[in-house]
Amino acid sequence: MERIYLDHAATTPLDARVLEKMQPYFCEVFGNPDSPHAFGRRAVAAVDAARDEVASLLGAKPNEIFFTSGGTESDNWALRGAAHALADRGRHVVVSAVEHAAVLEAAALLEGEGFSVSRAPVDAEGAVDVEQFSRLLRPDTVLAAVMAANNEVGTVQPLGEISALCRERGIVLFCDAVQAAGALPLGVNAPHVDLLSISAHKFYGPKGAGALYVRAGIRLGKLIAGGHQERGLRGGTTNVAGAVGLAEALRIACAEREQNAARLRALRDGFCAEIARNLGGVHRNGAQNGLPGLANLRFDGVDGEALLYSLDLAGVAASAGAACSSGSPEPSHVLLAMGLAASEARSCVRFSFGRGNTAQDAARAAAAVCACVERLRGRAPRPYAG
Ligand code: PLP
Repeated sequence: MERIYLDHAATTPLDARVLEKMQPYFCEVFGNPDSPHAFGRRAVAAVDAARDEVASLLGAKPNEIFFTSGGTESDNWALRGAAHALADRGRHVVVSAVEHAAVLEAAALLEGEGFSVSRAPVDAEGAVDVEQFSRLLRPDTVLAAVMAANNEVGTVQPLGEISALCRERGIVLFCDAVQAAGALPLGVNAPHVDLLSISAHKFYGPKGAGALYVRAGIRLGKLIAGGHQERGLRGGTTNVAGAVGLAEALRIACAEREQNAARLRALRDGFCAEIARNLGGVHRNGAQNGLPGLANLRFDGVDGEALLYSLDLAGVAASAGAACSSGSPEPSHVLLAMGLAASEARSCVRFSFGRGNTAQDAARAAAAVCACVERLRGRAPRPYAG
């Protein structure tokens, strides 16, 4: 049985072109980029080139890009580093209710450290309600965090309006673009954001490599104390191959974005249409025009976890939502924030298509979903040919 991977929002395979670009930086060019000798100089040249590439793709300057270990670190650093650096101006932070756990948990830590945190509600599609967001802003609000696109339902956030509100009030805006990078047009200037996080493994780059954009002039405290790496703000020997891989993966993802997005949208829509044709009681969560390859579906009368297990047995890999919350008995905070009842939120599965998927995968996966759902609903199973 050939397995079908429909969990690209959790992680993507490394692109062979990215691996090729990274290869020399494991054994051949192994120097520590902080070493002043020739070995170090070769390594630092690769890191500098990667930084230039990432900066140019984001519309930033190279000294505004900091390499990190991934999205979680970037998110924690942005939120905690900025809040602490801004604490002399105020101690109120607003985060959207549908942020990734990396942001929500960092916000919870801030609360423990004496900050006040408001969670901005979202509408039924998972988009931040701009009106309500603006009402949460106070004279002591110093920082806001709103993601570019949601990892569970794919909804794209109204960042333009949020950015305008923040700029009027001098509030620093942090955007978690971990899911959006490579999938949607990306940049730090339109809309204007002050901090932005990305993670290579979401766009066919290596795991454990990320970046944080920090606009020049924005104050940011240290998250990781140590050596003087990353302009003295993030100690630790730079992951040279990771930085090279991140830059190459982002370059390819941006260059091929439109063509890939059109393909993924067609696969996703064909998959959803096929399911809708064969099954009743199926609802799509989130905005229809969200992340191109992602569909979060609710199946009436079906337990999402049970469906995931049956799909896995049928050779289809999907997810209950955030990969890091799989296995957790709690229903998704994103779906609850969108107004779903806990029982409804437990009946949802996220399917996320990627570059390697074909129309045949979409058709086979749709047939598997229909067969598994019917079986779980207790109806006579239709033969599923695999
Ligand atoms: N932010 C979002 C929106 C994500 O989807 C993820 C990963 O699922 C992260 C942050 C964390 O990224 P990483 O896995 O690189 O730590």
